[in-house]
Amino acid sequence: MNNCASISYISSSYIELTRTCHQSCGYCGFFRSDDSLLSIAEIKVRVADLARRNATEVIFISGERPQEFPHIQIALHNSGYGSFADYLIAVCQTAIEANLLPVLEVGYLDPYTWEKFSAAGCSARINLVPAALSEPGQALENSRGRNPSMGKACIEAAHAAQLPYSAGFVIGIGESEEERLSFIEETGRFCTADPLLQDVRLIPFQPVPGSAMSGRPPLPFAAVEKAVAALRRAFPVHHISVPPWLFYRFPELVEAGLNDLGSVPIFSGDPTHPNFDIPCYETLKARLETHNILLYERGTLSTTAAINRPEVINTIAHTRSLIERRNLSGLNLVDNDHCFVCGPRNHSGLHIPMNKSVEGHTCTFTWTPGPAYQGYAGIVHGGVLSTLLDESMAYAVMGAEKQTLAVTADIRVRFLRPAPVGVPLKFVATLVGQRKNLHFARGSVILPDGSVLAESEGRFAEIIIHGASK
Ligand code: SF4
Repeated sequence: MNNCASISYISSSYIELTRTCHQSCGYCGFFRSDDSLLSIAEIKVRVADLARRNATEVIFISGERPQEFPHIQIALHNSGYGSFADYLIAVCQTAIEANLLPVLEVGYLDPYTWEKFSAAGCSARINLVPAALSEPGQALENSRGRNPSMGKACIEAAHAAQLPYSAGFVIGIGESEEERLSFIEETGRFCTADPLLQDVRLIPFQPVPGSAMSGRPPLPFAAVEKAVAALRRAFPVHHISVPPWLFYRFPELVEAGLNDLGSVPIFSGDPTHPNFDIPCYETLKARLETHNILLYERGTLSTTAAINRPEVINTIAHTRSLIERRNLSGLNLVDNDHCFVCGPRNHSGLHIPMNKSVEGHTCTFTWTPGPAYQGYAGIVHGGVLSTLLDESMAYAVMGAEKQTLAVTADIRVRFLRPAPVGVPLKFVATLVGQRKNLHFARGSVILPDGSVLAESEGRFAEIIIHGASK
């Protein structure tokens, strides 16, 4: 690309409320008939964790009309909710209280239910299908009422309830190209001028394990490109996104009209496409910069009608300030649980529970290295020791309260004696000083008999005060 283009994304996460669903769409591997309902107490814990990690929105996802199943009715009754809608309103409240914008992805609801959400501070994701596809063997054979007209009825209901929404186009599920492109064009005429429409998402078919269509090939890239161009014509001023974990040939897509990556669930993964890894901010940024495309973060809501609702004004002020700081610093330090040393979701990581190892500004933990971490036979690799000293000093700087977010500026390690494989090694690090935004720490590696094997010193540059992400 000759000129510099830009593309936005939202720092997001899913929370699954229940997979129980009364439909069984052929492309979906998400739905179940017997999944339990997440309690409000558990939701509060998860939302607080997302807030700590500085997410700006949370997508609450569920199957469609789970309340048709007795076990969900019982769960609602036992928790004191008269309906699934009342439960969802309480769910949204947990997010607003934690300064996160709630988004509901709960399938098609009836107009009366949509109306109930008008003061809940949420927005909705309405996913549209381009054709009926209800014949035997087709994608929507077992999905009652999932068709283009029901999608439009849903949009009308959201509009009547003054509920902001985003329109998702599920494509490549068996419709012809002509059906797909004319549906996009028609929907554009129908709602592009609606001030409650926030953005437009393309959800191109990719086979998902466990779904009826798991053996079908993904939609070819050329078809995705054409659909993006059609969306750009139909929705000339909106954010148009394709999930970057499904298709990431950015130069062609941007050329076709893509200007957004949508909600990137960096903290949770995508429960509807569990077989795809979510690229983190730094990976996306690096991929895009090679094509002269600038990546920046945006908030969930984009139109005045959505932003000016009294229920979300404080949350929007909070998320704006977070986003501004991240965009200005050019650094987006996200703890998505994949840290090599402490991340519980990193399959190749060490899984050391660093969070539990800090008291005040001292970090202490014991780790027994196996042979996989050796350099010479029986001796732990010096680079591995340096990594752990770096991590322990960083945690000491951040402290138990985690009010400082810092990155390593430099470290120095002195190796005094070889560290044996198979012996518990104690790592101790302490914050020893601070000058302006630089924090100084020292660390050591100690054998059970007290002898010191290595010592380190490090300088750590503070990035943000309050709102650390580790
Ligand atoms: S796509 Fe939605 S409505 Fe269809 S089966 Fe999956 S969860 Fe249910």
